[in-house]
Amino acid sequence: MPGHYSGSFAPFTVSDPTEHKLMSTTWHILGAGSLGTLWATRLARAGLTVRLILRDKARLASYRAAAGLTLVEQGVEQTYTVFGETPDSPEPIHRLLVACKAYDAQGAVAQLQHRLAANAELILLQNGLGSQEAVAAQLPQARCIFASSTEGAFRGGDWRVVFAGHGYTWLGDASHPAPPLWLDDLHAAGIPHAWSTDILTRLWRKLALNCAINPLTVLYQCRNGELQAHHCEVATLCAELAELLECCGQPTAALDLQHDVERVIQATAANYSSMYQDVAAGRRTEISYLLGYACQAAARHRLNLPHLQQLQGRLVEQLRVRGLPRD
Ligand code: NAP
Repeated sequence: MPGHYSGSFAPFTVSDPTEHKLMSTTWHILGAGSLGTLWATRLARAGLTVRLILRDKARLASYRAAAGLTLVEQGVEQTYTVFGETPDSPEPIHRLLVACKAYDAQGAVAQLQHRLAANAELILLQNGLGSQEAVAAQLPQARCIFASSTEGAFRGGDWRVVFAGHGYTWLGDASHPAPPLWLDDLHAAGIPHAWSTDILTRLWRKLALNCAINPLTVLYQCRNGELQAHHCEVATLCAELAELLECCGQPTAALDLQHDVERVIQATAANYSSMYQDVAAGRRTEISYLLGYACQAAARHRLNLPHLQQLQGRLVEQLRVRGLPRD
């Protein structure tokens, strides 16, 4: 696979970090949550210039009071000094990693619009679909690269992230197939990645997997593996999701969907889905960019998918009962 990086984590593989730093563009990282910190610490560790954009002055003050950003990996923790700033800092931005939740991405990027250089590149790490198109439409001059990641991390406190699951990040640009040169930075930072010429197919497939698994784990209050007891319901949802993918011009994402869903349920049997975890922790979910996006796409195509629609109704009701945002 072109651009495929299959090396193991090798954080100090850059022979002369200073040399690499001189040549490289600053990585501005918007959002110092789980994924933002995971990327910031690994890029900084490779000697690359990283600037963290925090929500406001209060968050910046809190960050400055801490020693830096801490990455916990296989029980070993290491703190990195990464420069922090607020959105109104004057420096122009050439490369921006957007590491907010899908529902925050558009607003957070809008705050930085005046700082974006004419040829700015954005990397959008959001799960689901919808937020990426919204950001891209907002910035017609910029190059927006969509990402789909199977890496897993969670916040173990403020400015501290636990690297919970090694994985892979696919990056792609649906309108320009040429990979950017800065993929070398990811290589240097030991971030396993590949350039994908079919990133939308990947994002749609991941969305379909999410729609078939995550809402049910919230409704049945269960781990992924317990969905094996709801085999028929899962199969019905997969059939409707495959129909939706075909209708949305994504036949490749529809191939063997049910089989893949069953494989994921089995492979992650002991895990709680991200949506389950959000609901259990009383956090807002990304429903509008996952099941909500799927149902909206179905409505746009006048597709009748009764089980998917019913699933959305049940999930929204569950969120209402728990006093959580329904979007
Ligand atoms: P997270 O831990 O909640 O981090 C989001 C960060 O964005 C928070 O630090 C938040 O700031 C910040 N933020 C929000 N609005 C902002 C603004 N206007 N200006 C500056 N910062 C702002 O979320 P996450 O888990 O990293 O997830 C990010 C995206 O990656 C999601 O779409 C998620 O589905 C996807 N993803 C996550 C994982 C994972 O393992 N975590 C894996 C794959 C994909 P505060 O700290 O001030 O609240």
